[in-house]
Formats: sequence, C-alpha cells, structure tokens
Amino acid sequence: MKCLQLKKPTLAFILAWAILSVFLLRLFPFFVHAQADREKMVALTFDDGPHPLHTEQILDILASCQIKATFFVLGCNVELYPKPLLRASAEGHEIENHSYDHQTRGRSARDLSASIVKTGDIIERLTGKRPTYFRPPEGKSTKAVETAIRQLSLVEVFWTLDSRDWTGKSPLSIAQSILKEANGDEVILFHDYTCPSHNTMDALPVVIEGLKSKGYTFVTIDTYFSTLAREGALTLW
Ligand SMILES: [Zn+2]
Repeated sequence: MKCLQLKKPTLAFILAWAILSVFLLRLFPFFVHAQADREKMVALTFDDGPHPLHTEQILDILASCQIKATFFVLGCNVELYPKPLLRASAEGHEIENHSYDHQTRGRSARDLSASIVKTGDIIERLTGKRPTYFRPPEGKSTKAVETAIRQLSLVEVFWTLDSRDWTGKSPLSIAQSILKEANGDEVILFHDYTCPSHNTMDALPVVIEGLKSKGYTFVTIDTYFSTLAREGALTLW
C-alpha cells in the first residue's frame, strides 16, 4: 500500500518561504503591529527656551500636526519670555525643568538645587503645574546634579536620538539621520532657543511626517516614562 510521505523541507523551500515572509510583512506591516501590545512611542523634546519667536513657530507646527511635545525650559528665559510658555502649557504640551541658567559646571549640589527649585517655582507660578522631570544642561550628569535631583525627587531625562540641530545641519540632513536611526521607542532632542542659522523649524515638519509614516505615536515625556514604567521596563522614583 502506498503511503503519502511528507518530504523534509528542502533548502529551496525554506529560502522561498523566507523571501515570501519578508514580502508579506512589507506588504502588510499591520501584521507586525498586531503582535505588539502597542505602537512605538516618540517624545519630541525642545531645550533651552522659551524663545520669543522660535518657540511660537514650533508651537504652530505642533498644532497643525496635532501632536504634543515636551519643553525643557530655562528659568531665566521663562522670566524674559513667559508668553510662549503660557501658550505651550495651554495647548497641552509638557513643561519641564532644564535649570535656571544652563550652568552646572563646578557648582555644588546645594547651588544646583537652588537653580532647579527657582525654575520649578517660576514654571509653577505661571502654569499651575510643577515640573517632575529634569534634563541636565548639555546632558552632563555630575555627582552634584545626581544629588540635587535625588533630594528634589525629580526624574533625570536624557534622549535616545540627538537631532544635532545646534550644529547648523541642513533640514534634510537633520530629518534623514533621525528617520534612519529611529526604530524603537525614542526621545528626540531638539532646541527651540536656537541661532537664526539653525534649521530646527524647517526640519520639524519632515521629521514628523516621516515618523508618522513609520507608525510612531507622539507622546510627552511623562506619558513616555509612565508607559515604560507600567510595562515594567523601568522604575521611576
Ligand atoms: Zn540645554
């Protein structure tokens, strides 16, 4: 009696199946997302502001794209330009602490603490909300910075992708490098207090559109970290 026998998969069959799988995933990327619990998150962050002109321009772009971002502000600039900060807060963006004057080198924990508290007071007086996150100026976390933020129960925030907008890169170059490197959950560093020669504002719409087409959801820093904490990926406080 003849029996039907299943042949062992040949190398050609395995290869063909692998190629077909890649093709199907490219054709129906939602199959990939359907397996994940959620879409990838991206938090756009803007440092050193507010700036009387550039922050307003960035807020216009964010409003037209209907996304929320996070601003790490300097207390001294908030005192000079409270209007864009009030607008950012009113439009649902997150306002966080970046020190009073961007000075951390050679300063004691006590000094830094005073600078951070002063900035927190200024922000809270204007917006009614006290910042809970702190980004050290230049991304440099010294021992004094660590001590200060621990005493103040703040969460230290850095970034996963640096736009390097402060170097004067072209808008296309900024967008291309971000879109090439973004693949997981990302925190992207931009600056809203920039020189006229910097191209943050021109790059931003291209970056946003590119990230949207890569399937990213735009979140603020608090949502970003709260989501990761809920998933057990990190511990806050
Ligand atoms: Zn800065």
